[in-house]
Amino acid sequence: MSRLVDIGQLPPVGEVPDQMHAQVVRSERFGDPETAFQPEVVEVPELGPNDVLIAVMAAGINFNNVWAARGIPIDVIAVRQKAGEPFDFHIGGSDASGIVYAVGDAVEHVSVGEEVVTHHGWWDPADPWIKAGKDPMIAPSASIWGYNTNFGSFGQFCVAQSHQVMPKAPRLTWEEAAASSLVGTTAYRMLLGWEGNTLKEDDVVLVWGGSGGLGTQAIQLATTHGARAVAVVSSDERGEFCKQLGAVGYVNRRNFDHWGVPPHWKDSEGQREWTAGARAFGKAVWDQLGERRNPDIVFEHPGEATIPTSIFVCEPGGMVVSCAGTTGFTAVVDLRYHWVRQKRFQGSHGTNDEQALAYNQMVADGKIDPCLGDVFRFEEIGRAHHEMEAGAGSYGNRVALVGAAEPGQGRR
Ligand code: NAP
Repeated sequence: MSRLVDIGQLPPVGEVPDQMHAQVVRSERFGDPETAFQPEVVEVPELGPNDVLIAVMAAGINFNNVWAARGIPIDVIAVRQKAGEPFDFHIGGSDASGIVYAVGDAVEHVSVGEEVVTHHGWWDPADPWIKAGKDPMIAPSASIWGYNTNFGSFGQFCVAQSHQVMPKAPRLTWEEAAASSLVGTTAYRMLLGWEGNTLKEDDVVLVWGGSGGLGTQAIQLATTHGARAVAVVSSDERGEFCKQLGAVGYVNRRNFDHWGVPPHWKDSEGQREWTAGARAFGKAVWDQLGERRNPDIVFEHPGEATIPTSIFVCEPGGMVVSCAGTTGFTAVVDLRYHWVRQKRFQGSHGTNDEQALAYNQMVADGKIDPCLGDVFRFEEIGRAHHEMEAGAGSYGNRVALVGAAEPGQGRR
C-alpha cells in the first residue's frame, strides 16, 4: 500500500493507496450542490470480482449529481442503505477518464495500466434478465453508475464494472475524454436504440437544449447520419453555436410563452391560446428547415415545460424520445394528437455496452466532438454543479480535473 497522494498526483501505476481524496455528498448537506459537495478523505473501496479500479484523471460533470446533491427525486444514499450498502455518503461522478490501477479476480479484458473512459450503464451480472441476454439497461438491476451507485469519478479512484470500461481515444486530452460519454451514449440510445424510429437520412430532428450536454451530442449524431437537426435554445449565441455543430437552424424558445402544462381540454379559450403558441413554434421550425416538415424525432429532456409542444409538433408516425424531466414530471400528453396521428412517446435511459462502444468509436474516429466546455479544479466540483443547475457558464460539457495536474495532458 502506498500513501495518500495529493490531487493532481498519482502513485506509481498499480500501487493502490488505502485512502483517497473525494468530493462527498452526505444527507445532512443535501441542498445547493455548492455546499452539498465537500472534500473528504475516505478509504479506497474494495473490488468485486468483475470490478475495475481506475485512477481518475478527469471527471465529467452531469446533471444527475445535481439531483444527488439535492436528494431529489430520490435520496440515493438511503436507497443504497436500504439495499444493504454500509456507506452513509455518496461519491458521484458518471464520467471518468483515467488509468486502470487494479482489476477484480474475474476480469479478463481490462489490464492494469490501460488508459480508459467509462460509460454509465451498470447492472447486476446475476440478474436473471441479464443472464437471459435481454437489453441490460431495461433490467430490474439496471442503474446509472456514479449516481445510483457509489464510488464514481469524484474521487481519486473510482470503481466501475469491467463491461463499462472503454478505450480512451488517444487524440483526446484527459478532460476532453471525460466530457461526453454519459450524454453521448444516452443520445446514441435515444436516437438509434428504438427500432422503427431510429435516425435515417433526411430525417428532421428537433433537439431541445441544443447547446447543452445532451443537445451537442444529439446534433452531431443527427448530422453524421444525414439527418437535419433544428436546435431549440434560449439565446441567439447558443443557436449560432448549434449551427457550428451542424444544426440547420435554431428556434429561440424565449420568443414563445405557451410552456408548461396546457389548459384543460374543456377550457376552450385557454386551449385556443395554447394551440396558437404551439402552432407558431411549429412554424418557426418549418422556417428553419425552409419547408413544411415536422420533426420525425423530437429529442426531449426538459419534460413538463416542453412535452406537450413536442408531442404536438412531432410528425405522424414519429417519435418523441425522452430521457429526463428537468423542468418537472407532470408532462401532459393530449391524446387527441397522440393516438389519431399515431405518434410514439418513448422513454430512454442510460446505455448498453454495444451502444456505448459504437458512440466511443465515433469519438475516437473524430466524427463526434465531445464539446468540452468549462474545466474546473477538483475543489470546484460543487460549484460546477451549481452553475449547471443555474444554466450558467459556457456551452457543452463541464469537466473537473482530478489526477491531471493541469489541462491539456493525456493526448497521445
Ligand atoms: P445541460 O447541459 O444543463 O443542458 C440542458 C439544456 O436544457 C440547457 O442547455 C438549456 O438550453 C435547456 N433548458 C433549460 N431549461 C429549459 C426549459 N425550461 N425549456 C427548454 N429547455 C430548457 O444538461 P444535460 O446534460 O443536457 O442534461 C439534461 C437532462 O437530461 C438532465 O435532467 C439530466 O439529468 C438528464 N439526463 C438523463 C440521462 C439518462 O440516462 N436518463 C442522461 C443524460 C442526461 P437553453 O436554455 O439554451 O434552452
